[in-house]
Amino acid sequence: MKKLYFRYGNGKTADLCQTAYNYREGGANIVVMNADHNDQIVSGVNIGGRNILTLEPNATTRNIFEQGFRFKGEGVDAVLVDNAHLLTSKQAEQLFYLCKTFGITVIAYGNRENDLGLAPVASMRLMELADTIEPVDGEDTFAYRSKLQFFYGAMNASKTAKLLYKAFDLEKQGLRVITVKPSIDRSATMISSRIGLSRKADIVVGPSDRLYGYGEYLIRDRVNYILVDEAQFLSGVQIDDLARINHDFNIPIRCYGLKTDFLTHHFEGSGRLLTIADLKKLRTICHCAERNGAEFNARRYKNGEYITEGSQVAVDDGKEIAYDSLCERCYIRDVQGIDIDNPDKVLQKLRARKIVS
Ligand SMILES: [Zn+2]
Repeated sequence: MKKLYFRYGNGKTADLCQTAYNYREGGANIVVMNADHNDQIVSGVNIGGRNILTLEPNATTRNIFEQGFRFKGEGVDAVLVDNAHLLTSKQAEQLFYLCKTFGITVIAYGNRENDLGLAPVASMRLMELADTIEPVDGEDTFAYRSKLQFFYGAMNASKTAKLLYKAFDLEKQGLRVITVKPSIDRSATMISSRIGLSRKADIVVGPSDRLYGYGEYLIRDRVNYILVDEAQFLSGVQIDDLARINHDFNIPIRCYGLKTDFLTHHFEGSGRLLTIADLKKLRTICHCAERNGAEFNARRYKNGEYITEGSQVAVDDGKEIAYDSLCERCYIRDVQGIDIDNPDKVLQKLRARKIVS
């Protein structure tokens, strides 16, 4: 399936212009939209008093999905969107279905944070749905200092096993590692992977615990690395505490967790991490014949029937429910019940769900 990209960071517009030039040079048919409705896209790249990277949008952000019928007829290869953080959440969702239904690459450029340090709704929806979330300059934060990283993936992406390998590896090098996990998970104090590896969590975090206070203690204790399991279940405040520990004490922190729930929406902790952390995707594969990368988590009854409502957290207790990690195609078709190969039917469904008006 064609991919939906969300690109953020400094130099977005220059990257958009450059990407459009490169595509066109290769003979590709490119559509450019600007969510701020200006009739020119002008990058900040200015040489000798002249803006050298500029573009004119050739489509609007109105009726994004419906334009797909025309794009398909015209053989459009890719849609580039400037200022995507200014879209509505529904427009963001339309970009996703445009990409998957009509087989058109979509690259949305936007800010992860607004002036208050929060994610704009469209940026969050795009990050929830995107195959790839990446900084345009390849670098999230300053390379010389330690990072707060979020290693995210769907279920079965071996997140916990990777955390445990990392801990083992760091300790082998003589480094001191602290492991952290939220208390919401079933086995209270153990960090356990499916393949049988486990270790005790050093810090188990209750729903309203604060973490910043640990900073002084971690420094005194010469802690070199903090590894966090199931980070999606931490609160936004707790993630901000980790960010402050990382910043103030220069301790690298790796958070591992799910990006989204069974309805493709972020958890509180993963939403905050998507907004502020360096992001690394961990891959896993769908069970379907195409062996596509799995992007979404589906909740189902043990008899196989998919569940599309209910509370965000319902831990797999091995009896009533189970989870599948699915590619977009399988998720849209089998969980959302949308005939992805029939654009008219997709449009009907999107109208019924009020994503398209
Ligand atoms: Zn699949």
